[in-house]
Amino acid sequence: MVDPASSSESSCCGEDSLAESPQAMAAGSGVDLKRIERAVREILSAVGEDPDREGLLETPARVARMYAELFSGLKVDPREHTRKFFTQQYDEVVLVRDISFNSMCEHHLLPFIGHAHVAYIPKGKVIGLSKIARVVEVISKRPQVQERMTEDIANLLVSELDAKGVAVVIEASHSCMTIRGIRKPGSSMVTSAMKGLFRSNMSSRAEVMQLIYGKSK
Ligand SMILES: [Zn+2]
Repeated sequence: MVDPASSSESSCCGEDSLAESPQAMAAGSGVDLKRIERAVREILSAVGEDPDREGLLETPARVARMYAELFSGLKVDPREHTRKFFTQQYDEVVLVRDISFNSMCEHHLLPFIGHAHVAYIPKGKVIGLSKIARVVEVISKRPQVQERMTEDIANLLVSELDAKGVAVVIEASHSCMTIRGIRKPGSSMVTSAMKGLFRSNMSSRAEVMQLIYGKSK
């Protein structure tokens, strides 16, 4: 697996990957890039920097494109990924484990990065596993709090799949806790949303937790 962080180790800018990413290009539509650029120049001036010095000249435009990408989920309805389902009689747990994501904490506009585990017990409707990852992707690409993100993913699958049960567990490390404020590197936050059978039936809940945490990679 390619780690995007290590592949651009020579420079933090990663300008090439951003410029060539179709996701970034598509995300640019509907976002007022020039307005973000002006705001970033303002921030640089406000902290005492000179936004016209050479190293910062391209920064406002770069940050504007980055925000367009990081918030691209605002313009997308995650339900577009759940419309295509299959009819399948299967009433055991379906689990997609370790879906990596990055999102932006809406209180500090700093990233939180982690993994989502999403399980459901179908009632005739089954969707492709990649679609579940897409739903996580769309919902994470918005200003977020982890609690709401967890609930939103669970509620969406309950309503779209009419599943007998949905379980979502998210673990993430929040930069706003690790690099500022209380500064606790290594801490992570775990949230869960249990719906239907996973809420009402203890053995179903125990089973899904065992599937998520029982066997490590
Ligand atoms: Zn925060």
